[in-house]
Amino acid sequence: MSDKTIFAKIIDGEIPADKVYEDEQVLAFKDVNPQAPIHILIIPKKPIRTVNDLEEADAPLVGRLFLVAKQLAARLGVAENGYRLVMNCNADGGQSVYHIHLHLLAGRRFAWPPG
Ligand code: AMP
Repeated sequence: MSDKTIFAKIIDGEIPADKVYEDEQVLAFKDVNPQAPIHILIIPKKPIRTVNDLEEADAPLVGRLFLVAKQLAARLGVAENGYRLVMNCNADGGQSVYHIHLHLLAGRRFAWPPG
């Protein structure tokens, strides 16, 4: 049985996704179960299970995720009103797919503290 995550399968084109951005290192696509009018997942193509698994050498890659989020927010017209970026880690963080991903949520007002 494959231990590939659903996101690795999306990267490899084995299952479809509604892609909104792609370059050599990063892919972004619409969340299949959106929690806001705009809900995009921005992922590295490198399979990294959790934030706990990040290494020093991954710093530029993680930075790229945020720069892509910024670009998408501008392109989608929500930069000015604002948006939320979230990366969940492990069970208590609410992580369900073990390939790191930055959630870009926008199009409504979010509460703080989060639930
Ligand atoms: P997390 O709970 O932080 O690990 O977030 C995982 C996210 O992946 C959830 O918001 C899911 O709705 C989303 N998701 C799961 N499978 C897919 C898929 N095939 N395509 C797009 N989004 C997905």
